[in-house]
Amino acid sequence: MICQKVKTSLPDLLLAPKSVSAEVRAHVESCAECRAELQSLEATMALMDEWKSPEVSPYFETRMAALLSEEQKASPAGWLERMRERFLFGNHMSMRPLAAAALALIVAVGGGTYAGFGGFSPKPPQAQASPVIKDLQSLDENAQVFQQLNSMDQDTGDNGGGSSL
Ligand SMILES: [Zn+2]
Repeated sequence: MICQKVKTSLPDLLLAPKSVSAEVRAHVESCAECRAELQSLEATMALMDEWKSPEVSPYFETRMAALLSEEQKASPAGWLERMRERFLFGNHMSMRPLAAAALALIVAVGGGTYAGFGGFSPKPPQAQASPVIKDLQSLDENAQVFQQLNSMDQDTGDNGGGSSL
């Protein structure tokens, strides 16, 4: 009976040890089962802490800002129009930042969605590890897309300056 009560306080014991009663702490010290439970919870949390979202290249924002201001300078009145034209005619120079921005949004929204499902999943038994695994899987897919973006980058990066004159 006390084990059940103690187990509900285990997350508190990890996150806010001071909020947990001495009785609970003493029980965890002496009860192997509750201690094992605490350790597995700790390991899960450590795994979550280690997980990092993919880092955006330090040049990404600079490059994107430069591309956007280039578009705005080139045609202050109708740059949206121009971007749409370029988009339709398949010039990768303007598609690239759009695709990257869309991708960043998908990554952000996707990560939040997974975290949300993980927290409020109606099926806790198999949900314990799955949010992290799902994230790792989507991370893997995203890495592939990033690679594709990078190769687009290399294909079109060198002839960008020539089109303005
Ligand atoms: Zn116990």
